[in-house]
Amino acid sequence: MAPQVLTILGSTGSIGVSTLDVVARHPEQFQVYALTGATQLDKLHDQCLAFAPRFAVVLDDGAAEVLRARLKASGSETEVLCGEAALEAVASATIVTAVMAAIVGAAGMRPTLAAARAGKRVLLANKETLVLAGRLFMDEVTRCGATLLPIDSEHNAIFQVLPRAYREAPYASTLRDAGLKRILLTASGGPFRTRSLDTLAQVTPEEAVRHPNWSMGRKISVDSASMMNKGLEVIEARWLFNADVDEIAVLVHPQSVVHSMVEYVDGSVLAQLGAPDMRIPIAYGMAYPARIDSGVASLDLFSVGRLDFEAPDLARFPCLRLAFDALRAGGAATAVLNAANEVAVAAFLDCGLDYPGIPALIESVLGDCVGQTRADSLDALMDADVLARERAHAWLARRH
Ligand code: NAD
Ligand code: MG
Repeated sequence: MAPQVLTILGSTGSIGVSTLDVVARHPEQFQVYALTGATQLDKLHDQCLAFAPRFAVVLDDGAAEVLRARLKASGSETEVLCGEAALEAVASATIVTAVMAAIVGAAGMRPTLAAARAGKRVLLANKETLVLAGRLFMDEVTRCGATLLPIDSEHNAIFQVLPRAYREAPYASTLRDAGLKRILLTASGGPFRTRSLDTLAQVTPEEAVRHPNWSMGRKISVDSASMMNKGLEVIEARWLFNADVDEIAVLVHPQSVVHSMVEYVDGSVLAQLGAPDMRIPIAYGMAYPARIDSGVASLDLFSVGRLDFEAPDLARFPCLRLAFDALRAGGAATAVLNAANEVAVAAFLDCGLDYPGIPALIESVLGDCVGQTRADSLDALMDADVLARERAHAWLARRH
């Protein structure tokens, strides 16, 4: 079979590195066309030497010059480009067959959309694309004949246990008509699941990014601690699987072994289990519908011992409630939620905002922007994103 030709958007991040690990295990099946990164130019340089992509893309001219000089000195033939147009170009180039969308945040939306519009196999890690523009993105996937494979571990699990016809064309019917009752989305509960509530105001960024089971980028690690990550994933599931908000339930499962489940109308519950290692969903997406070695060791259920489940505590995790509220509100509310969350998390990581300030900021911005935003076009959604960021920065300025 002809090898897949891959562009990896965000190759220097946690998902990007895991993707290259899988590529390196199957050099005959995957070729790298382009790698991209915003910072960590040393890492990008080393990746270019190891995988010899045709292009490397960075944010601006300054970074491009630095990387170009270093690559030249190392004897690499990789060409260096920069800017958003270049990201879109390497995501949609004719020769590319698959695009790993692993840029973090709303910054990943346009290149991911470009890949979908070019009809690529889109390996979707960037959940923010669906939170910001879910309906529009799914419409473009269908219209342009792209193949969408969820990489987020929960959604990848759900995809694996759905009927094949439904998972490949979820908008051709409904969950009910496909014999399904509910999606059961599991959540680890993060590092603060049992921490006493009156100490949450003292949480530091280092504590928040120390996830008990998964090793991930800093933004998603904070989102996991606040359970905003699960809120974003509920919204992601709504769009990926054409599910109503009431057809999605969240279960806290501290071991992170059951990656998610679906319940069929006959009462059967199907789950996908595995070690908490993103190379499993990445390898699944890259080889689908075949299966390849991901490099992950067998799951040792004897050492796991037990699987626990509990209901999420919305008083402890107000961000989860806010995400459900935004999804129910519809329109551009989830775009506002996403933008406010990005500003809040960045301020928290910068020590400009305390941990309880994250939901406080988001709730205030959601209230502010409701009724002032529209969702009928990409431009309208981007306007909502910009407005929410402005309001969020104004809120932070008032706090100081
Ligand atoms: P990360 O912070 O480790 O990496 C992010 C990548 O995006 C880096 O390559 C960075 O250089 C690039 N980037 C950052 N800002 C950019 C910008 N403005 N323009 C262009 N590129 C930019 O993040 P991650 O943990 O790898 O997560 C990536 C995405 O995958 C996120 O959307 C996250 O929610 C999702 N995801 C991650 C995991 C995980 O285990 N890490 C699991 C599920 C979903
Ligand atoms: Mg996830």
